[in-house]
Amino acid sequence: MILKRFDIKDEVIVGRIKKGSDLILELTKICEENNIINGIIEGIGALEYVTIGYYDQKNKEYIINKIDKPMEVLCLKGNVSLKADKPMVHAHIVLGDKKGEVFGGHLFEGSSVFAFEYYIISLGKGFFRRKLDPETGLYLWIDQ
Ligand code: ZN
Repeated sequence: MILKRFDIKDEVIVGRIKKGSDLILELTKICEENNIINGIIEGIGALEYVTIGYYDQKNKEYIINKIDKPMEVLCLKGNVSLKADKPMVHAHIVLGDKKGEVFGGHLFEGSSVFAFEYYIISLGKGFFRRKLDPETGLYLWIDQ
């Protein structure tokens, strides 16, 4: 199902996030400050500790998993779109520990950056929003 077709302009932001920043809050702030309301986010780096979640489909709530140790960010993939007229970053993250074991989940506030490099590709200024989907209990993209 295609919800919307974008005519991509050449706006790509490439940057680094400072040590000690909260990853999801900082990505959201970057989108707000640069007026990016629809976009694609990618990044790699390392975190000092991390808070991720798994969505329990039966109970329609996130199970939070706090990992209190340094982890490599093997891959962060996410997007930004409008929720209640503000940019909302939705990101999933794959992490590796010192043994090479891999963890992952939905990125929550409470994840501290050691080092992080990102790309944000703006998809323009069209209105592409999230709305509560009663069937899943999640704020999902809606057709405009
Ligand atoms: Zn998610």
